[in-house]
Amino acid sequence: MCIRPAISADAMPPHIGCDPRDLRNGRGCIPAHPALRAATHEGMRVTPYLLPPLYDEFRAAARAVADGEIAPRAAATDARAEFPHDVYAALVASGLHAPGIPEEYGGDGVDAIAAAIAVEEVARACASSSTILTSNKLGVTPLLLVGTEQQRERYLPEVAVGDALMAYAISEREAGSDVAAMRCRAVADGDEWVLDGVKTWITSAGIARYLIVFAVTDPESGSRGISAFVVHADDPGIGYGEPEHKMGLRGSVTRELYLEDCRIPGDRLLGARGAGLKVALGSLDHTRVSVAAQAVGIAQGALDVALGYVQERRQFGQAISSFQGVQFMLADMAMKVEAARQMVYAAAAHSTARSSQLTFFGAAAKCLASDTAMSVTTDAVQLLGGYGYTTDFGVERMMRDAKITQIYEGTNQIQRIVMARQLLRAR
Ligand SMILES: Cc1cc2nc3c(=O)[nH]c(=O)nc-3n(C[C@H](O)[C@H](O)[C@H](O)COP(=O)(O)OP(=O)(O)OC[C@H]3O[C@@H](n4cnc5c(N)ncnc54)[C@H](O)[C@@H]3O)c2cc1C
Repeated sequence: MCIRPAISADAMPPHIGCDPRDLRNGRGCIPAHPALRAATHEGMRVTPYLLPPLYDEFRAAARAVADGEIAPRAAATDARAEFPHDVYAALVASGLHAPGIPEEYGGDGVDAIAAAIAVEEVARACASSSTILTSNKLGVTPLLLVGTEQQRERYLPEVAVGDALMAYAISEREAGSDVAAMRCRAVADGDEWVLDGVKTWITSAGIARYLIVFAVTDPESGSRGISAFVVHADDPGIGYGEPEHKMGLRGSVTRELYLEDCRIPGDRLLGARGAGLKVALGSLDHTRVSVAAQAVGIAQGALDVALGYVQERRQFGQAISSFQGVQFMLADMAMKVEAARQMVYAAAAHSTARSSQLTFFGAAAKCLASDTAMSVTTDAVQLLGGYGYTTDFGVERMMRDAKITQIYEGTNQIQRIVMARQLLRAR
């Protein structure tokens, strides 16, 4: 991507954007730094706030795959309530299954904005299918943040080529929002670790080849006594519960993970001993951007269905889109989706930059986007009237799917706690 200054700094007037009267009055004004001046990209004038056209091209390619391969399977994926192996194969074939893995590990190397666009476009077609991308992101992120080079080389290439799916296991029956209350234990035994406990709500459990598992290694150290491990699905002592019966996201398998005398080599410790909670929360800062993108995609999908329907459906002798009450609803829906999208991309930029503001932006994006997805999908059902309440148009599925984005990777109450802490810490 080549962003060149439009005109050389010498050619610019000394003070831009000033009312000449200010200069005459000797009040002066703030001289613009050359970097703030409009730049060109492929001949078009752009400002850095607008994404370069390459992202639009990437979106168009992702949408073509989603519309062609995923959307036609979305209703069946939901109805079957099973992992969609056919969709996974299509995602792998198009290279969309695990966006953002660096090129040195065989990945596409895209930045977090492009990765968000990929999740968004898949979720617009089928939220369940987009959990393939978000589940991989949950597994890959801790490896990228604290994994050793050996660990990254061991796992990332397999995920990058679609040979292995990843999962992330932190929640327990009695430790949901309060993850530090976890009871799952990991005990050192010579060069090995032995894990025991039950993890709950694990997305892709039973499908994923590798799981990032968090367990207590040093109970006396409280939240500093938790460590992260890479567990293999074929390690001894691994078992799974029955798939949960969920109201939405039914094509994403959610099961308990049982660890009974699960013995793994010492080099599966991920990050420092006792740093597990830091690893978990630091990873969630990044992965919440993906959940936020998933929510934007669900909302956009519902808005698109509603836009099409209101122009076709006639009542009182005219298309219902001609009623101002309907138009106002559409305008509000689109406004919220766009606001959420902008926040997601801002959060994604903080993710790529690994900025200190990511914690706030990740929580804010997840919260805003998921609340938007819930309200927009509910309004979409309303705009389709009785047909919206049936499975015929898919908006009821989107409404059911939207709900989970307000709950997982930290409920929206927890996101508000995270944001408030950041705000108060800054003072
Ligand atoms: C479909 C699905 C997939 C999931 N996938 C995974 C996964 O892959 N890996 C994984 O580890 N986990 C996963 N989870 C778990 C998920 O992250 C938790 O469900 C979530 O963090 C909430 O925990 P909980 O369900 O125990 O709710 P609780 O913590 O019991 O919360 C219940 C209610 O109390 C509120 N509450 C709790 N504490 C506070 C507080 N301090 N202030 C205000 N309100 C509060 C919550 O916001 C919520 O409304 C998944 C869950 C689901 C449903």
